[in-house]
Amino acid sequence: MPAQITPNQLVQLIIPGITAVFSLGFACAWIYDRRLRYLRFLAASFAAFAFGSAVQICHLPDEWRWNALISATFYVSSIQLLAEGVLRRAGLHFRLATHASIFALVMGGMFYFSFVAPNLLVRVYILNLNAGLLMMITALRFRKRCNGRIVNHVLLWVLLIFGASFFIRTPLTTIRPLPHSTAPFGQTIFWVLLQLSLALMGAVLGLVLLAAAMSDVIDRLTLERDLDPLTETLNRRAFERVARRRIADRQNYPLALIAFDIDKFKSINDRYGHAAGDTVLRRFAAILRAAVREKDVVARIGGEEFVLLLPGADEQSAFQIADRLRTVLESSRFNEIDATICVTMSAGVAPYRPGEAVAALLARADHLLYAAKRAGRNRVITESLGQTRDTPERDIA
Ligand code: GH3
Ligand code: MG
Ligand code: MG
Repeated sequence: MPAQITPNQLVQLIIPGITAVFSLGFACAWIYDRRLRYLRFLAASFAAFAFGSAVQICHLPDEWRWNALISATFYVSSIQLLAEGVLRRAGLHFRLATHASIFALVMGGMFYFSFVAPNLLVRVYILNLNAGLLMMITALRFRKRCNGRIVNHVLLWVLLIFGASFFIRTPLTTIRPLPHSTAPFGQTIFWVLLQLSLALMGAVLGLVLLAAAMSDVIDRLTLERDLDPLTETLNRRAFERVARRRIADRQNYPLALIAFDIDKFKSINDRYGHAAGDTVLRRFAAILRAAVREKDVVARIGGEEFVLLLPGADEQSAFQIADRLRTVLESSRFNEIDATICVTMSAGVAPYRPGEAVAALLARADHLLYAAKRAGRNRVITESLGQTRDTPERDIA
Protein backbone atom coordinates (compact mmCIF):
# COMPACT_ATOMS: atom_id res chain seq x y z
CA MET A 1 0.00 0.00 0.00
CA PRO A 2 1.39 3.44 -0.87
CA ALA A 3 2.59 5.33 2.18
CA GLN A 4 1.03 8.64 1.15
CA ILE A 5 -1.42 9.99 -1.37
CA THR A 6 0.29 12.48 -3.69
CA PRO A 7 -1.32 15.83 -4.65
CA ASN A 8 -1.67 14.43 -8.18
CA GLN A 9 -3.66 11.49 -6.85
CA LEU A 10 -5.72 13.80 -4.67
CA VAL A 11 -6.82 15.80 -7.74
CA GLN A 12 -7.60 12.59 -9.56
CA LEU A 13 -9.75 11.41 -6.65
CA ILE A 14 -12.27 14.09 -7.68
CA ILE A 15 -13.38 11.61 -10.36
CA PRO A 16 -14.50 8.81 -8.02
CA GLY A 17 -15.84 11.53 -5.72
CA ILE A 18 -18.18 12.93 -8.38
CA THR A 19 -19.20 9.44 -9.47
CA ALA A 20 -19.98 8.52 -5.85
CA VAL A 21 -22.22 11.59 -5.55
CA PHE A 22 -24.16 10.44 -8.62
CA SER A 23 -24.46 6.97 -7.12
CA LEU A 24 -25.91 8.54 -4.00
CA GLY A 25 -28.31 10.61 -6.12
CA PHE A 26 -29.67 7.49 -7.84
CA ALA A 27 -29.92 5.66 -4.50
CA CYS A 28 -31.91 8.56 -3.00
CA ALA A 29 -34.22 8.69 -6.03
CA TRP A 30 -34.79 4.93 -5.64
CA ILE A 31 -35.57 5.31 -1.93
CA TYR A 32 -38.05 8.03 -2.90
CA ASP A 33 -39.82 5.81 -5.44
CA ARG A 34 -38.93 2.15 -5.04
CA ARG A 35 -40.97 1.15 -8.05
CA LEU A 36 -38.29 2.71 -10.26
CA ARG A 37 -36.14 -0.37 -9.80
CA TYR A 38 -33.71 0.47 -12.60
CA LEU A 39 -32.32 3.18 -10.30
CA ARG A 40 -30.64 0.44 -8.21
CA PHE A 41 -28.62 -0.60 -11.25
CA LEU A 42 -27.59 2.99 -11.96
CA ALA A 43 -26.62 3.57 -8.30
CA ALA A 44 -24.58 0.35 -8.32
CA SER A 45 -23.00 1.24 -11.67
CA PHE A 46 -21.76 4.65 -10.53
CA ALA A 47 -20.62 3.19 -7.18
CA ALA A 48 -18.67 0.44 -8.99
CA PHE A 49 -17.00 3.03 -11.20
CA ALA A 50 -16.10 5.12 -8.14
CA PHE A 51 -14.52 2.07 -6.46
CA GLY A 52 -12.66 1.02 -9.60
CA SER A 53 -11.23 4.44 -10.17
CA ALA A 54 -10.33 4.96 -6.45
CA VAL A 55 -8.57 1.57 -6.37
CA GLN A 56 -6.61 2.47 -9.50
CA ILE A 57 -5.70 5.99 -8.41
CA CYS A 58 -4.61 4.98 -4.89
CA HIS A 59 -2.77 1.82 -6.07
CA LEU A 60 -4.76 -0.46 -3.84
CA PRO A 61 -3.27 -3.00 -3.64
CA ASP A 62 0.14 -1.71 -4.66
CA GLU A 63 0.99 -4.85 -6.63
CA TRP A 64 0.06 -3.71 -10.17
CA ARG A 65 -1.34 -7.05 -11.44
CA TRP A 66 -3.86 -7.28 -8.64
CA ASN A 67 -4.57 -3.60 -8.89
CA ALA A 68 -5.30 -3.93 -12.61
CA LEU A 69 -7.53 -6.94 -12.03
CA ILE A 70 -9.50 -5.45 -9.14
CA SER A 71 -10.07 -2.07 -10.81
CA ALA A 72 -11.06 -3.86 -14.02
CA THR A 73 -13.62 -5.93 -12.10
CA PHE A 74 -15.26 -2.72 -10.93
CA TYR A 75 -15.05 -1.03 -14.34
CA VAL A 76 -16.55 -3.99 -16.20
CA SER A 77 -19.32 -4.37 -13.60
CA SER A 78 -19.98 -0.65 -13.78
CA ILE A 79 -20.55 -0.64 -17.53
CA GLN A 80 -22.71 -3.79 -17.37
CA LEU A 81 -24.82 -2.33 -14.55
CA LEU A 82 -25.19 0.92 -16.52
CA ALA A 83 -26.35 -0.96 -19.62
CA GLU A 84 -28.82 -2.95 -17.52
CA GLY A 85 -30.12 0.18 -15.77
CA VAL A 86 -30.71 2.05 -19.03
CA LEU A 87 -32.42 -0.96 -20.63
CA ARG A 88 -34.60 -1.73 -17.60
CA ARG A 89 -35.81 1.84 -17.55
CA ALA A 90 -37.08 1.18 -21.08
CA GLY A 91 -38.61 -2.17 -20.08
CA LEU A 92 -35.79 -4.15 -21.71
CA HIS A 93 -32.86 -6.13 -20.27
CA PHE A 94 -29.85 -8.25 -21.10
CA ARG A 95 -30.04 -11.94 -20.21
CA LEU A 96 -28.06 -12.99 -17.15
CA ALA A 97 -26.13 -15.46 -19.34
CA THR A 98 -25.12 -12.59 -21.65
CA HIS A 99 -23.84 -10.58 -18.70
CA ALA A 100 -22.00 -13.60 -17.28
CA SER A 101 -20.38 -14.39 -20.65
CA ILE A 102 -19.25 -10.78 -21.20
CA PHE A 103 -17.86 -10.58 -17.67
CA ALA A 104 -16.06 -13.94 -17.91
CA LEU A 105 -14.59 -13.12 -21.31
CA VAL A 106 -13.32 -9.67 -20.37
CA MET A 107 -12.02 -10.70 -16.95
CA GLY A 108 -10.43 -13.83 -18.44
CA GLY A 109 -8.58 -11.58 -20.89
CA MET A 110 -7.60 -9.18 -18.10
CA PHE A 111 -6.24 -12.06 -16.02
CA TYR A 112 -4.30 -13.51 -18.95
CA PHE A 113 -2.75 -10.18 -19.95
CA SER A 114 -1.90 -9.34 -16.33
CA PHE A 115 -0.48 -12.61 -15.02
CA VAL A 116 0.35 -14.89 -17.96
CA ALA A 117 1.45 -12.53 -20.72
CA PRO A 118 1.45 -9.05 -19.16
CA ASN A 119 0.47 -6.49 -21.75
CA LEU A 120 -0.99 -3.12 -20.79
CA LEU A 121 -1.87 -2.24 -24.38
CA VAL A 122 -4.09 -5.28 -24.79
CA ARG A 123 -5.68 -4.69 -21.39
CA VAL A 124 -6.51 -1.10 -22.33
CA TYR A 125 -8.03 -2.30 -25.59
CA ILE A 126 -10.08 -5.05 -23.92
CA LEU A 127 -11.57 -2.71 -21.31
CA ASN A 128 -12.30 0.20 -23.63
CA LEU A 129 -13.66 -1.77 -26.55
CA ASN A 130 -15.91 -3.75 -24.23
CA ALA A 131 -17.22 -0.52 -22.69
CA GLY A 132 -17.71 1.15 -26.08
CA LEU A 133 -19.43 -1.86 -27.63
CA LEU A 134 -21.74 -2.45 -24.68
CA MET A 135 -22.73 1.21 -24.61
CA MET A 136 -23.41 1.34 -28.35
CA ILE A 137 -25.49 -1.87 -28.24
CA THR A 138 -27.42 -0.50 -25.27
CA ALA A 139 -28.04 2.78 -27.10
CA LEU A 140 -29.22 0.99 -30.23
CA ARG A 141 -31.62 -1.21 -28.27
CA PHE A 142 -32.86 1.79 -26.26
CA ARG A 143 -33.41 3.78 -29.49
CA LYS A 144 -36.77 2.14 -30.23
CA ARG A 145 -38.13 3.03 -26.79
CA CYS A 146 -37.53 6.79 -26.82
CA ASN A 147 -41.28 7.51 -27.15
CA GLY A 148 -40.63 11.01 -28.42
CA ARG A 149 -39.51 12.26 -25.00
CA ILE A 150 -36.73 14.83 -25.19
CA VAL A 151 -34.88 13.43 -22.17
CA ASN A 152 -34.77 10.01 -23.84
CA HIS A 153 -33.40 11.42 -27.08
CA VAL A 154 -30.70 13.33 -25.19
CA LEU A 155 -29.85 10.14 -23.28
CA LEU A 156 -29.65 8.19 -26.53
CA TRP A 157 -27.20 10.66 -28.04
CA VAL A 158 -25.07 10.87 -24.89
CA LEU A 159 -24.85 7.07 -24.86
CA LEU A 160 -23.89 6.96 -28.55
CA ILE A 161 -21.26 9.68 -28.19
CA PHE A 162 -19.94 8.21 -24.95
CA GLY A 163 -19.85 4.75 -26.53
CA ALA A 164 -18.03 6.03 -29.63
CA SER A 165 -15.55 7.95 -27.46
CA PHE A 166 -14.18 4.66 -26.12
CA PHE A 167 -13.14 3.74 -29.64
CA ILE A 168 -11.36 7.09 -30.00
CA ARG A 169 -9.84 7.04 -26.51
CA THR A 170 -8.24 3.66 -27.03
CA PRO A 171 -5.83 4.55 -29.89
CA LEU A 172 -5.18 7.88 -28.14
CA THR A 173 -4.19 6.10 -24.94
CA THR A 174 -1.79 3.92 -26.86
CA ILE A 175 0.02 6.39 -29.16
CA ARG A 176 3.08 6.50 -26.91
CA PRO A 177 5.04 3.39 -25.88
CA LEU A 178 3.49 1.90 -22.79
CA PRO A 179 5.33 0.53 -19.80
CA HIS A 180 4.24 -2.82 -18.39
CA SER A 181 3.19 -1.41 -15.07
CA THR A 182 0.17 0.88 -14.68
CA ALA A 183 1.83 3.02 -12.03
CA PRO A 184 4.20 5.22 -14.08
CA PHE A 185 1.75 5.57 -16.97
CA GLY A 186 -1.00 6.42 -14.51
CA GLN A 187 0.98 9.47 -13.45
CA THR A 188 1.41 10.97 -16.90
CA ILE A 189 -0.51 14.12 -17.83
CA PHE A 190 -1.78 12.25 -20.87
CA TRP A 191 -3.45 9.60 -18.71
CA VAL A 192 -4.84 12.23 -16.35
CA LEU A 193 -6.36 14.14 -19.30
CA LEU A 194 -7.93 10.99 -20.63
CA GLN A 195 -9.30 10.22 -17.19
CA LEU A 196 -10.69 13.74 -16.95
CA SER A 197 -12.37 13.46 -20.35
CA LEU A 198 -13.91 10.20 -19.18
CA ALA A 199 -15.02 11.87 -15.95
CA LEU A 200 -16.55 14.77 -17.88
CA MET A 201 -18.53 12.41 -20.07
CA GLY A 202 -19.45 10.34 -17.04
CA ALA A 203 -20.75 13.48 -15.34
CA VAL A 204 -22.79 14.45 -18.41
CA LEU A 205 -24.19 10.91 -18.58
CA GLY A 206 -24.90 10.99 -14.85
CA LEU A 207 -26.73 14.31 -15.15
CA VAL A 208 -28.81 13.15 -18.10
CA LEU A 209 -29.68 9.90 -16.29
CA LEU A 210 -30.62 11.84 -13.16
CA ALA A 211 -32.80 14.15 -15.27
CA ALA A 212 -34.43 11.07 -16.83
CA ALA A 213 -35.02 9.60 -13.36
CA MET A 214 -36.53 12.86 -12.11
CA SER A 215 -38.83 13.04 -15.14
CA ASP A 216 -39.90 9.43 -14.41
CA VAL A 217 -40.64 10.34 -10.78
CA ILE A 218 -42.66 13.37 -11.91
CA ASP A 219 -44.53 11.27 -14.49
CA ARG A 220 -45.47 8.78 -11.80
CA LEU A 221 -46.64 11.47 -9.41
CA THR A 222 -48.70 13.10 -12.17
CA LEU A 223 -50.22 9.75 -13.06
CA GLU A 224 -51.04 9.03 -9.42
CA ARG A 225 -52.64 12.45 -9.08
CA ASP A 226 -54.66 12.01 -12.27
CA LEU A 227 -55.68 8.35 -12.16
CA ASP A 228 -58.44 6.72 -10.18
CA PRO A 229 -56.60 3.78 -8.56
CA LEU A 230 -59.55 1.37 -8.73
CA THR A 231 -60.38 1.69 -12.41
CA GLU A 232 -57.17 3.25 -13.78
CA THR A 233 -59.18 5.83 -15.66
CA LEU A 234 -58.76 9.60 -15.17
CA ASN A 235 -60.36 11.16 -12.12
CA ARG A 236 -62.74 14.11 -12.36
CA ARG A 237 -60.11 16.83 -11.96
CA ALA A 238 -57.82 15.34 -14.58
CA PHE A 239 -60.79 14.82 -16.90
CA GLU A 240 -61.73 18.49 -16.72
CA ARG A 241 -58.17 19.51 -17.51
CA VAL A 242 -57.76 17.13 -20.46
CA ALA A 243 -61.26 17.89 -21.75
CA ARG A 244 -60.47 21.63 -21.77
CA ARG A 245 -57.40 20.85 -23.87
CA ARG A 246 -59.43 18.78 -26.36
CA ILE A 247 -62.10 21.47 -26.59
CA ALA A 248 -59.49 24.19 -27.18
CA ASP A 249 -58.31 22.39 -30.32
CA ARG A 250 -60.79 23.09 -33.12
CA GLN A 251 -59.37 20.20 -35.14
CA ASN A 252 -61.23 17.95 -32.68
CA TYR A 253 -64.63 19.32 -33.66
CA PRO A 254 -67.31 18.02 -33.65
CA LEU A 255 -67.01 16.67 -30.12
CA ALA A 256 -69.45 14.67 -28.07
CA LEU A 257 -69.62 13.62 -24.45
CA ILE A 258 -71.22 10.47 -23.13
CA ALA A 259 -72.10 10.20 -19.42
CA PHE A 260 -72.64 6.65 -18.10
CA ASP A 261 -74.07 5.42 -14.84
CA ILE A 262 -74.40 1.79 -13.82
CA ASP A 263 -78.00 0.85 -13.12
CA LYS A 264 -78.97 -0.10 -9.59
CA PHE A 265 -75.37 -0.42 -8.59
CA LYS A 266 -76.23 -0.03 -4.95
CA SER A 267 -78.12 -3.31 -5.06
CA ILE A 268 -74.98 -5.11 -6.39
CA ASN A 269 -73.10 -3.81 -3.38
CA ASP A 270 -75.94 -4.73 -1.06
CA ARG A 271 -76.41 -8.21 -2.47
CA TYR A 272 -72.84 -9.31 -3.22
CA GLY A 273 -70.70 -6.99 -1.16
CA HIS A 274 -68.49 -3.99 -1.84
CA ALA A 275 -65.67 -6.09 -3.37
CA ALA A 276 -68.10 -7.44 -5.98
CA GLY A 277 -69.14 -3.83 -6.69
CA ASP A 278 -65.50 -2.96 -7.23
CA THR A 279 -65.12 -5.87 -9.66
CA VAL A 280 -68.05 -4.53 -11.70
CA LEU A 281 -66.52 -1.04 -11.71
CA ARG A 282 -63.16 -2.38 -12.89
CA ARG A 283 -64.80 -4.45 -15.62
CA PHE A 284 -66.90 -1.55 -16.85
CA ALA A 285 -63.82 0.69 -16.91
CA ALA A 286 -61.96 -1.99 -18.88
CA ILE A 287 -64.82 -2.09 -21.42
CA LEU A 288 -64.60 1.69 -21.79
CA ARG A 289 -60.81 1.71 -22.04
CA ALA A 290 -60.88 -1.00 -24.69
CA ALA A 291 -63.26 1.12 -26.78
CA VAL A 292 -61.31 4.37 -26.79
CA ARG A 293 -59.05 5.71 -29.48
CA GLU A 294 -55.94 7.75 -28.75
CA LYS A 295 -57.67 11.13 -28.49
CA ASP A 296 -60.74 9.91 -26.58
CA VAL A 297 -60.85 10.67 -22.88
CA VAL A 298 -62.36 8.21 -20.43
CA ALA A 299 -62.81 9.12 -16.76
CA ARG A 300 -64.55 8.05 -13.57
CA ILE A 301 -66.20 11.19 -12.30
CA GLY A 302 -68.21 9.70 -9.45
CA GLY A 303 -68.87 6.41 -7.61
CA GLU A 304 -70.26 4.47 -10.60
CA GLU A 305 -70.41 7.35 -13.03
CA PHE A 306 -68.08 7.46 -16.00
CA VAL A 307 -67.69 9.82 -18.93
CA LEU A 308 -66.26 9.41 -22.40
CA LEU A 309 -65.27 12.46 -24.43
CA LEU A 310 -65.08 11.74 -28.14
CA PRO A 311 -63.19 14.21 -30.33
CA GLY A 312 -64.23 14.01 -33.97
CA ALA A 313 -67.57 12.40 -33.12
CA ASP A 314 -70.98 13.90 -33.90
CA GLU A 315 -74.11 13.13 -31.94
CA GLN A 316 -75.02 10.19 -34.18
CA SER A 317 -71.69 8.36 -33.91
CA ALA A 318 -71.40 9.05 -30.16
CA PHE A 319 -74.92 7.64 -29.81
CA GLN A 320 -73.86 4.46 -31.65
CA ILE A 321 -70.70 4.11 -29.55
CA ALA A 322 -72.66 4.55 -26.33
CA ASP A 323 -75.23 1.97 -27.36
CA ARG A 324 -72.54 -0.52 -28.41
CA LEU A 325 -70.93 -0.13 -24.98
CA ARG A 326 -74.34 -0.58 -23.37
CA THR A 327 -74.83 -3.92 -25.15
CA VAL A 328 -71.25 -5.03 -24.33
CA LEU A 329 -71.91 -4.46 -20.62
CA GLU A 330 -75.35 -6.03 -20.78
CA SER A 331 -73.94 -9.20 -22.31
CA SER A 332 -70.90 -9.37 -19.99
CA ARG A 333 -70.80 -12.29 -17.61
CA PHE A 334 -69.52 -11.89 -14.07
CA ASN A 335 -68.77 -15.50 -13.19
CA GLU A 336 -66.52 -14.45 -10.31
CA ILE A 337 -69.60 -12.83 -8.66
CA ASP A 338 -72.61 -14.73 -9.93
CA ALA A 339 -72.95 -16.31 -13.39
CA THR A 340 -76.56 -15.16 -13.67
CA ILE A 341 -76.00 -11.51 -12.81
CA CYS A 342 -76.82 -8.99 -15.53
CA VAL A 343 -75.32 -5.53 -15.15
CA THR A 344 -76.70 -2.68 -17.25
CA MET A 345 -76.05 1.00 -17.58
CA SER A 346 -77.77 4.13 -18.76
CA ALA A 347 -76.13 6.88 -20.78
CA GLY A 348 -76.70 10.44 -21.92
CA VAL A 349 -75.04 11.81 -25.07
CA ALA A 350 -74.43 15.54 -25.38
CA PRO A 351 -72.85 17.04 -28.52
CA TYR A 352 -70.45 19.88 -27.68
CA ARG A 353 -71.69 23.38 -28.38
CA PRO A 354 -68.80 25.65 -29.44
CA GLY A 355 -67.92 28.09 -26.69
CA GLU A 356 -69.44 25.93 -23.98
CA ALA A 357 -67.50 25.23 -20.77
CA VAL A 358 -66.65 21.66 -19.76
CA ALA A 359 -68.88 21.92 -16.68
CA ALA A 360 -71.87 22.92 -18.82
CA LEU A 361 -71.25 20.04 -21.25
CA LEU A 362 -71.03 17.64 -18.30
CA ALA A 363 -74.26 19.00 -16.83
CA ARG A 364 -76.13 18.50 -20.13
CA ALA A 365 -74.86 14.92 -20.54
CA ASP A 366 -75.77 14.23 -16.90
CA HIS A 367 -79.23 15.64 -17.44
CA LEU A 368 -79.78 13.29 -20.40
CA LEU A 369 -78.37 10.39 -18.38
CA TYR A 370 -80.97 10.94 -15.68
CA ALA A 371 -83.63 11.20 -18.35
CA ALA A 372 -82.50 7.70 -19.40
CA LYS A 373 -82.84 6.55 -15.79
CA ARG A 374 -86.31 7.99 -15.56
CA ALA A 375 -87.28 6.41 -18.86
CA GLY A 376 -86.55 2.98 -17.43
CA ARG A 377 -82.70 2.54 -17.41
CA ASN A 378 -80.55 0.32 -19.70
CA ARG A 379 -80.76 2.82 -22.55
CA VAL A 380 -79.00 5.75 -24.19
CA ILE A 381 -80.63 9.14 -24.61
CA THR A 382 -79.30 11.93 -26.79
CA GLU A 383 -80.32 15.50 -27.15
CA SER A 384 -81.99 15.35 -30.55
CA LEU A 385 -82.00 11.69 -31.56
CA GLY A 386 -84.16 10.39 -28.76
CA GLN A 387 -83.25 7.08 -27.22
CA THR A 388 -81.87 3.76 -28.39
CA ARG A 389 -84.57 1.48 -27.19
CA ASP A 390 -87.52 1.25 -25.01
CA THR A 391 -87.32 -2.09 -23.30
CA PRO A 392 -88.23 -2.63 -19.70
CA GLU A 393 -85.31 -2.28 -17.30
CA ARG A 394 -83.76 -5.50 -16.09
CA ASP A 395 -83.23 -6.57 -12.58
CA ILE A 396 -79.65 -6.97 -11.44
CA ALA A 397 -79.95 -10.74 -11.01
P1 GH3 B 1 -79.36 4.07 -10.35
O1 GH3 B 1 -79.77 2.99 -11.26
O2 GH3 B 1 -80.42 5.10 -10.16
O3 GH3 B 1 -78.07 4.70 -10.79
O4 GH3 B 1 -79.13 3.41 -8.94
P2 GH3 B 1 -77.77 3.15 -8.21
O5 GH3 B 1 -77.99 2.20 -7.12
O6 GH3 B 1 -76.74 2.74 -9.20
O7 GH3 B 1 -77.37 4.60 -7.74
P3 GH3 B 1 -76.90 5.20 -6.38
O8 GH3 B 1 -76.24 6.52 -6.74
O9 GH3 B 1 -77.99 5.22 -5.40
O10 GH3 B 1 -75.77 4.21 -5.87
C1 GH3 B 1 -74.44 4.32 -6.15
C2 GH3 B 1 -73.71 3.42 -5.23
O11 GH3 B 1 -72.35 3.29 -5.60
C3 GH3 B 1 -73.70 3.93 -3.81
C4 GH3 B 1 -72.27 3.72 -3.34
O12 GH3 B 1 -72.23 2.96 -2.16
C5 GH3 B 1 -71.65 2.93 -4.45
N1 GH3 B 1 -70.24 3.22 -4.64
C6 GH3 B 1 -69.66 4.42 -4.82
N2 GH3 B 1 -68.33 4.27 -4.99
C7 GH3 B 1 -68.06 2.94 -4.92
C8 GH3 B 1 -66.88 2.17 -5.03
O13 GH3 B 1 -65.77 2.66 -5.23
N3 GH3 B 1 -66.99 0.83 -4.91
C9 GH3 B 1 -68.19 0.22 -4.69
N4 GH3 B 1 -68.22 -1.10 -4.60
N5 GH3 B 1 -69.32 0.95 -4.57
C10 GH3 B 1 -69.27 2.28 -4.70
MG1 MG C 1 -76.17 4.07 -10.67
MG1 MG D 1 -74.78 7.21 -9.60
